[in-house]
Amino acid sequence: MTKAVSDINRAFDNALLNGREDDFDSMPFAGDEVDLEQEAEPEKLRGVEIIAATTNFFEEDGPLKASAQHGGRPYEHRSQQADMAVKIAEALIAEHNLCVEAPTGIGKSFAYLIPLIYYSKISSKPTIVSTETINLQEQLMRKDIPLLRKITGIEFKASLAKGRGNYLCLRRLMLATGSHRDEYLPLASLALEMDRINKWAAGSSDGDRDSIDFRVDPLSWSYVCCEAGNCLGPQCRSFRTCYYWRARRSWEDADIIVANHAMFFTDLKIKFIEGLEQTLLPEYSAVIIDEAHTLENNAAEYLGLRINSSGVISFLNRLFNVDNAKGLLLRGGEEAFQLREIVAALKEDVVKFFSQFEQYLLEHNDSIRRVREPGLFPNPLSDKLLAMEENLRDYIKMQEDKDYRAELESQVLKCAAYASGIADFINMSFADSVYWVEDARAGITIQAAPLNIADVLQETLFKKSFPLVLTSATLTVNKKFDYYRGRVGYMNGPELRLDSPFSTKQVRVYLPREMTEPNHKDYAAALVEQIPRFISITQGKAFVLFTSYQMLRYCADNLHDFFESNGINLLIQGEALNRSAMLREFKKDIDSVIFGTDSFWTGVDVPGEALSHVIVTKFPFAVPTHPLVQARGERLEKEKRNSFMHYSLPEAVLKFRQGVGRLIRSRSDTGIITILDKRVRSKRYGRYFIDSLPDYPVKYF
Ligand code: SF4
Repeated sequence: MTKAVSDINRAFDNALLNGREDDFDSMPFAGDEVDLEQEAEPEKLRGVEIIAATTNFFEEDGPLKASAQHGGRPYEHRSQQADMAVKIAEALIAEHNLCVEAPTGIGKSFAYLIPLIYYSKISSKPTIVSTETINLQEQLMRKDIPLLRKITGIEFKASLAKGRGNYLCLRRLMLATGSHRDEYLPLASLALEMDRINKWAAGSSDGDRDSIDFRVDPLSWSYVCCEAGNCLGPQCRSFRTCYYWRARRSWEDADIIVANHAMFFTDLKIKFIEGLEQTLLPEYSAVIIDEAHTLENNAAEYLGLRINSSGVISFLNRLFNVDNAKGLLLRGGEEAFQLREIVAALKEDVVKFFSQFEQYLLEHNDSIRRVREPGLFPNPLSDKLLAMEENLRDYIKMQEDKDYRAELESQVLKCAAYASGIADFINMSFADSVYWVEDARAGITIQAAPLNIADVLQETLFKKSFPLVLTSATLTVNKKFDYYRGRVGYMNGPELRLDSPFSTKQVRVYLPREMTEPNHKDYAAALVEQIPRFISITQGKAFVLFTSYQMLRYCADNLHDFFESNGINLLIQGEALNRSAMLREFKKDIDSVIFGTDSFWTGVDVPGEALSHVIVTKFPFAVPTHPLVQARGERLEKEKRNSFMHYSLPEAVLKFRQGVGRLIRSRSDTGIITILDKRVRSKRYGRYFIDSLPDYPVKYF
């Protein structure tokens, strides 16, 4: 194990502090001893037959032709889809990796599901499909997989795998709504929410948080969701009906498991880095990672450390909330009294501890700032947390009520994890990592992330003799995989770049001749002048993509009258509607316009006329002062490589491709891409952006 990996291994111990309770799943408890039903011997289908069946499926007179009969889209032959499917079948059989750039419209989910379905007939273990977004998981589970089951006539089991924290814990719900609720809930306001959850639970078949049709505050949910730290497993009186354990059994039995990247990486960490046997996912025989353009950032996030002030405070409140005298330590006795005193004092220490970072940010007039030296901040907190952990352990020994003990034990784990996480941050214990402080929505946050993801993934993910497929619509820069391969360390398999099935005539690109440079003082005014001009071409129906909220706000304020007088509904990110509600409104009101920042550049799907125009105000270069961006750049400079050309530029190109990729989602879509960033022509690197697009006709303005 390399130094970096062993350090990350330690970071994993703290990952639960990031709110990722699944990490507790690695901790042994009786629940894992349950005998799960053995899978029946699968029907044998040899490798060559899998390739032949996959080829046949996508042929012009193959089974896919019957798609419309089964409720799918009318059949259209797409050679790119067939190529991708066959290459994946070959990778599965030959057990090598594959990296595929599959542009929108080729039908990539069918292209990987079909070979997986055939492959599942010769594999005794499940296969995994991991995605970044819930949208894609839902599309796979609700639409694609049921349709393919009908078209192929093959019976196979598919299961959706979510992290433990997504499921309701029936035992904890009983505590939160029972007679001891006062000690269980540290805030009186939570009681009402618990009653609503209780009512929902009475009619729920899966206990899945995503099926709740009212907004549940994450804090409230944390009191009733499953947690490994306090799960009683088979000893729980609700074990037979437990939502989580039922779901988990279905994964063991599945041919295809659809998971998200968070779960996949957490499992990877437990399995290959921590080397523990108690894993989240069952052993699998192949993996497809869809939406793989986020691989590096996902790996950095799930291998890193994040602790925020509000998380530590709510952990203490859970034990004892001084303000309203509620919490788990409310029970009588001298020991509980002493512990309550300790918790109350610790809360003050926590406030003091995090205020030094607040001060640090204030002094530098920043909301995010890198920490470069170990020991820069005093840390009296870790020792105090460790001392409290010991006291809690002694106190637990005196308790007989097993539900009560389970709740406290879960707090003990958190206490230890906070103690070591905070110490690791202050001492900068992880090699080759970057550390920073941020004033985030969840309060002051201290964070660390590993810098060299490629090495870690080469050790754990891209192994020989194991089929793993990476796919996304945007993996190449200037039509080459070099950048992506270098960032994530992809190896042991070929790359495949597929052409878009759409005609280049579907899109027209407008490039500026006379636009003001983005760093010029008049740039904002120039945007206010140009945006209406282009919005008028399509009478609305546009996404206007910004790289800063400040600029978005300026343009929105100054263009209010234009939109109003033209009867175009302007939807502004950051105002009353959240992203999903904005998109619903955008699709409903076909002429409306969205002004969006970061989250509208990726993962948004609006087929049809409603989105006919994407206006890029400025190329999406990452903020160079963000600690992670800065550290990645410095690392390249140390290696004598130009950080702009080898990191900032290709990252921006990939994001730009994601942004403009929102426009054309089907063969009948047409539209315009307008680039208001003059650097596309005034800088030599501007060509990288245009050359990374298909050969669309270009007009100058
Ligand atoms: S087994 Fe019991 S304690 Fe564990 S998650 Fe299920 S209901 Fe909760």
